[in-house]
Amino acid sequence: MDYLKGLNEAQYEAVTTLEGPLMVLAGAGSGKTRVLTMRIAHLITNLVDPFNILALTFTNKAAKEMKERIAKVVGQSEARSLWMGTFHSVFARILRSEAHYLGFPSNFTIYDSQDSLNVLRKVLKDLSIDADLYKPKKVQARISSYKNNLITVKAYFNNPELIENDERANMKHMGAIYQKYVDACYRNGAMDFDDLLLRTNELLTRFPEVLAKYQDRFRYILVDEYQDTNHSQYLIVKALASKFENICVVGDDAQSIYSFRGANIFNILNFKKDYPDAVTVSLEQNYRSTQNIVNAANVVISKNVQQFKKNVFSDNEEGEKIKVYRSLSDADEANFVASNIWEQHNSLQRRFSDFAILYRTNSQTRAFEDALRRKNIPYKVYGGLSFYQRKEVKDLIAYLRLLVNENDAEALTRIINYPARGIGETTQNKLTVFADKKSVAITEVLGNLGHYAPELGLNNGILTKLSDFWAMIKAFQVMLKSENAYTVAMEVAKRSGLIKFLKDDQTPEGISRVENVQELMNSMQGYIEEQQQLEDGDPSLSGFLENIALSADTQNDKNETGDQVSLMTIHLSKGLEFPVVHLVGLEENLFPSFMSSSTREEIEEERRLFYVALTRAEKQAYFSYAVSRFQWGKITDAEPSRFLSEVDSQYLEFINPAVESRFVNHSGLKSNIFDEHPSEPRSFTRKSEKKTIERSEPQPVPQNLKPVATARIINPSGASSENIEVGDQV
Ligand code: ATP
Ligand code: MG
Repeated sequence: MDYLKGLNEAQYEAVTTLEGPLMVLAGAGSGKTRVLTMRIAHLITNLVDPFNILALTFTNKAAKEMKERIAKVVGQSEARSLWMGTFHSVFARILRSEAHYLGFPSNFTIYDSQDSLNVLRKVLKDLSIDADLYKPKKVQARISSYKNNLITVKAYFNNPELIENDERANMKHMGAIYQKYVDACYRNGAMDFDDLLLRTNELLTRFPEVLAKYQDRFRYILVDEYQDTNHSQYLIVKALASKFENICVVGDDAQSIYSFRGANIFNILNFKKDYPDAVTVSLEQNYRSTQNIVNAANVVISKNVQQFKKNVFSDNEEGEKIKVYRSLSDADEANFVASNIWEQHNSLQRRFSDFAILYRTNSQTRAFEDALRRKNIPYKVYGGLSFYQRKEVKDLIAYLRLLVNENDAEALTRIINYPARGIGETTQNKLTVFADKKSVAITEVLGNLGHYAPELGLNNGILTKLSDFWAMIKAFQVMLKSENAYTVAMEVAKRSGLIKFLKDDQTPEGISRVENVQELMNSMQGYIEEQQQLEDGDPSLSGFLENIALSADTQNDKNETGDQVSLMTIHLSKGLEFPVVHLVGLEENLFPSFMSSSTREEIEEERRLFYVALTRAEKQAYFSYAVSRFQWGKITDAEPSRFLSEVDSQYLEFINPAVESRFVNHSGLKSNIFDEHPSEPRSFTRKSEKKTIERSEPQPVPQNLKPVATARIINPSGASSENIEVGDQV
């Protein structure tokens, strides 16, 4: 068994302990994910039916890579029937089969964060609640946190403490909003991301026969990145594993970075309590990074009070020091990074895909995109506005959603008058009010216009337009019965007038919108072909829609395997590795974020983020910061991040020969970063130098340089935090 040969002793123990609860708690790069992968291969080699294995990963990408690796050991056909994916995708699949238990249609729509915000806005409007006082994103985050703590509407109203809590926060209408939002989703036959977990819990608690079925099926359960599971996920795993207790979790408390979304570090710390017989394995050797990187990361994370003490070392080469670059502006920083990548590509023959640019918030990407594009360096932005979030793509998807689920009022609103067909807002409002009064879905009214017409109060011209629209949707639905999803979608794009409408706009943006629709069609074609090759594949339109609703982190552009620089938030980079990492924007208020610098807990979470970022690097890490940055529409002075000063200077090399960089320490003593023996402790608080900084504005992109970046992939539920959009577990 060759695959066991490459493991160290502790890894071997974890891989070959097949029965009973097992926890691997270990630092970054120590092979946790590798252990999980090999353990699955080993289970299958030991004749466990892959059908009985459930593996939960943090991203779809991770699941895909793991599956490929397992297939290499046990063969394609064995690997195929494994259930492997994110919590959301696995449980969406279960919910589809069992939806009838919960009164949902099996073709329920999955709302991404934007859809659910739209529904919330409508709820606020219906309740006449001022959206300025109740910021939709804030309301969304609150509802999300109820759901992740399994607080249903009923539980909410039965809990005076929660109600008081919301009252104290000046949000006394939260209960009513929550109720109306849940009702709206239910009526639309839709679940948001948190519902996928909440409803699975409901399913497993309320219906013991369903629980028993999945307990018997998933005899072996494995979870990667266990430190970032929230309460809801924790309960699902616990319920499923309670019969056989063959549960293996791997994680690192030092990399817990989702507490703002309810991740509960105590899940990992409590594993021993839940399973007193659990075997725990710790891994100490980091195989990913150079000694210099591992040591630097250890020094920083040791500043956290709340943590398990772990020993992590690297036996790799000592490696280069981490290079620190001080830039004058964000544009200057981006140019430095792009030039560095360009030089290394040319002189060291590094591939572009060897590089990652990691930042704290999505809004930082623009400067880097400009700089990379100017040098014609191919790149890909993960996070930010997803390909599937683009308006034209969402519009076509809304048509398709409506075909699959007629009750999807959100989809209907989006396209009933798009492209414009004379069904204006007044008509739509009349329809909504009427449907509400009758307690039926709008589509029910549309489907029976003849019956409802006398009461509707709409003129004949409008009635004809409505009935034409509905006849078109119905015709698509009929077509869907005999034709494949691609053909139908093509027909929808044409007959709805969408393509023509987009094509009429001959500006570069207009052309790229048409290309995006084409790209959506391509991705559909690819999906259908892929599914047709699978034993239990689902090439249907609803299969495709589910796949994209959940595929936030998957790459879907033409250059999937292309050689390109990766740009992503640190949150999204978890679990990944790159030969060279540029960690940028190391400034106070940016990283640590101004939103998360007030308590020790918040700073500790930011520090864990820093640890995650640095430990993605295999060979080289670069830190950079700007002394002034274009933010919120103006140039703001910036101070270097405190995390810079927490890395022991022996691991750093400052690379601005020409720039005089003076810092003062806390005692006010000047210390120059080029000092051979800087006085300790040293802080990087920048001495206020009031000089005007010439901001080098990014140059416009020459017309002949076609942008090389394509899909921007995201995270549908970055909603839980106002300033950060992060990778979601989908
Ligand atoms: P993270 O905490 O960042 O998720 P991890 O603990 O999951 O990291 P892996 O991604 O599994 O670590 O492994 C890190 C790297 O080290 C990978 O490239 C992996 O192939 C390599 N690696 C792990 N174990 C060994 C080993 N025994 N021999 C050689 N390489 C190894
Ligand atoms: Mg890992």
